[in-house]
Amino acid sequence: MSNQFDLIVIGGGSGGLAHAQRAAEYGARVMVVESGRLGGTCVNVGCVPKKVMWYAASMAHDIDLATSYGFAVQAPTHDWRALQQSRDAYVARLNGIYARNLDNKAITVVRGRARFIDAHSIDVDGMAYTGHHITIATGGYPKVPDLPGAEHGITSDGFFELDAQPKRVAVVGSGYVAVEFAGVLAALGSETTLMTRFDGVLRSFDSMLRESVSDALRADGVDLFEHVMPAGIDEELGALTLRAKDGRVFGPFDSVVWAVGRAPATDGLGTAAAGIDIDADGFIPVDEWQATNVANVFALGDVTGAVALTPVAIAAGRRLADRLFGGMHDRRLEYRDIATVIFSHPPSATMGLTEAQAREMYGDDEINVFTSRFVPMRYALGDTKRPAAMKLITAGEEQHIVGCHIFGDGADEMMQGFAVAIRMGARKQDFDDTVAIHPTSAEELVTMR
Ligand code: FAD
Repeated sequence: MSNQFDLIVIGGGSGGLAHAQRAAEYGARVMVVESGRLGGTCVNVGCVPKKVMWYAASMAHDIDLATSYGFAVQAPTHDWRALQQSRDAYVARLNGIYARNLDNKAITVVRGRARFIDAHSIDVDGMAYTGHHITIATGGYPKVPDLPGAEHGITSDGFFELDAQPKRVAVVGSGYVAVEFAGVLAALGSETTLMTRFDGVLRSFDSMLRESVSDALRADGVDLFEHVMPAGIDEELGALTLRAKDGRVFGPFDSVVWAVGRAPATDGLGTAAAGIDIDADGFIPVDEWQATNVANVFALGDVTGAVALTPVAIAAGRRLADRLFGGMHDRRLEYRDIATVIFSHPPSATMGLTEAQAREMYGDDEINVFTSRFVPMRYALGDTKRPAAMKLITAGEEQHIVGCHIFGDGADEMMQGFAVAIRMGARKQDFDDTVAIHPTSAEELVTMR
């Protein structure tokens, strides 16, 4: 086997694999180096197993609701271990599919940890490989705070290794991972505490979503504590207590989950040997073409500090391959109008500016905000009421939609279509001119006044 390639991709996660495969489709000789499992974070310890858990939690909520539709439902029991085993088997199937796809495209896969020797070559377990282009797509890993006893807690990676459901659990964090895990654990029956450092969850999201998600978590029995600065974890006979800096003590818990953010996987990558800049937090800065400061070295996905989402890493990877090997010289990812979903219960979807950002960017006089709060028809028959809320933000005389935020059942599936319209420059009038689909929740978005 020759050790010379047109493209070496370091990291076989969402971005790296998409990039490698697109390049190979153009006929490039491609090598992927992966130190862990193919598919990276999303497939193994992110989106995929998370969504499986979310489905399980959603079913728990649906069982609750079923009585209002005439079903006689006995108090259900849930087998966490059975769920874990089917989930892991599904992930293993995906790992296999990824390996076969690479094989079918004649991409060389090298297992091991890559380290730069210089700008054109890398070392993997003592073997040197050279690439005309090298792309860094090494993603990141979950942070653990530097506190006494922090090692008694687990991260999102550890969450997916739990082979028994913790009866009493604390989730520390306020981002989407913290919210999603707390929702799943509570729905499946854990006594769940969620602790946020500042005021509430999802700090960078629109206030309507933040309030709706907090209310839903509380309604589902999550104990939500704000302004908790952890000082450490104490362990006694398997029971964990979490001390806060202000003297409060929380617990005992069977498990504490740190969901306090992610760090870029650049340690030990040897970036200095190739002269590649990294910033103070370890991220690799790139320009709008995914180019690092070294001419033939590119970076994409979470390791760049860009919006940390799978489709973003994939889109950046494919576009870069289109440009480098497909002759599309202007092809690049525009990092704007990216819709995303928080898999809360019910889910939250968001795109564009928050109301606060829109007010700051355009001024109060230039924006209009349309809101709707309602209980979807699904909950009309019984006592369970899971409300929905929607917000559209427009800017300027033409009333272009600059922000769209949806909380409620179906929000996750609803947003994708609206995202196309908004990206194309939809105005409020275009929404108004669109005939509604009835009876749905989505129709609220085209009937707001
Ligand atoms: P990764 O997928 O992390 O892949 C990087 C790969 O590089 C890894 O496989 C790693 O082993 C490998 N690697 C690292 N260093 C080296 C080295 N030196 N040599 C060789 N290989 C190396 N995104 C969504 O869009 N939707 C979601 O619902 C969602 N849910 C998430 C839930 C959780 C719990 C988490 C943690 C993340 C979630 N994400 C979600 C984010 C998503 O997983 C990431 O944005 C995405 O995986 C980033 O892709 P990437 O290619 O940049 O990196």
